[in-house]
Amino acid sequence: MNTLHLTTSAEDIRQAAEIIRKGGLVAFPTETVYGLGADAMNTKAVAAVYEAKGRPSDNPMIVHIAAAEEMRRLTPEISEDAAAVMDRFWPGPLTIVVKKKPEVPDRTTGGLDTVAVRMPETPAARDLIRFSGCPIAAPSANLSGSPSPTRAKDVTADLEGRIDAVIEGGDCRVGIESTVLDLTGDAPVILRPGIITADEISEALGKPVLYDSSLKEAASHTALDPAKGAQEADFRPKSPGMKYKHYAPKAEMLIISGDADRVREEIGRRKRECEAQGKRAGVILFGEQEFRQAAHDLFSRLRDLDGEGVDLILAGALSEADGVGFAVMNRMLKSAGYHIIRV
Ligand code: AMP
Ligand code: MG
Repeated sequence: MNTLHLTTSAEDIRQAAEIIRKGGLVAFPTETVYGLGADAMNTKAVAAVYEAKGRPSDNPMIVHIAAAEEMRRLTPEISEDAAAVMDRFWPGPLTIVVKKKPEVPDRTTGGLDTVAVRMPETPAARDLIRFSGCPIAAPSANLSGSPSPTRAKDVTADLEGRIDAVIEGGDCRVGIESTVLDLTGDAPVILRPGIITADEISEALGKPVLYDSSLKEAASHTALDPAKGAQEADFRPKSPGMKYKHYAPKAEMLIISGDADRVREEIGRRKRECEAQGKRAGVILFGEQEFRQAAHDLFSRLRDLDGEGVDLILAGALSEADGVGFAVMNRMLKSAGYHIIRV
């Protein structure tokens, strides 16, 4: 298939919307990462998204809407909490999980009786949804398992020839995927951390917001006992949402956690060791408090280092005490296959 390259002009977005209406696949920019969109109410179109990405079919998609009223097509009721976060954070990088209406295909929700919904902030994304006249199901526009695409060229690298069109809209502002907030239980629970943090949501709702236990379980792994020295961890995630390989660069990746100076030293030492063996190492070291910059840069850095053909990626850990740091570390740990040492 020939992939059409489109701009964010109104004319091009209308052309893209026509493709969506006919059941085709269009990659488009959002403020988080590029999405691979299809008509969320069209089972065949949604099936084609899984096919193009090579995505396991039990991993549900986020449904994107352009106006709050469109929630009514997807869910039977909008709770007080849902209304509050929609009002406070939409359009923006927050996805909410709510009960689904029977009309929403099982294929879109991976067989669940709930649906994840978000209203993106990027105008091109909202225009695409509006012009298409349907909610758009869109996972990240990459091959399943590889780092999420934050630039049009990352989409092309993975999906050229596999999708109908890509709207090229420049860099994504945020750089990591949306916060996913489950509102179907007794208390609001974060299933995936993002740039909108638990504290911000908690403030908007006037009640505590919990993290899904699997997130903390994974994060606790960064706290390897320093007394045991630099030990390498082999973490086998238990919860189903964590079973798939995610965000992985082609190179082997190792995260180093600890005091900033010692991390830098250890990275230098390992880099030299790698080079002494005739191999190449790439380094990812973010500024200590620059969490948003780290979110913006992580996936593109991983893709660029792969492009340079490095054998090993050495990355400095971020503080997980910060909500955004926690969200970036969630991606970094998956990228590295939970391969982390503490110095
Ligand atoms: P992606 O499309 O790659 O950004 O991933 C979508 C994320 O939203 C995945 O982590 C899904 O597990 C999650 N998600 C989507 N729909 C639901 C749902 N109905 N219930 C729980 N999680 C969901
Ligand atoms: Mg993804």
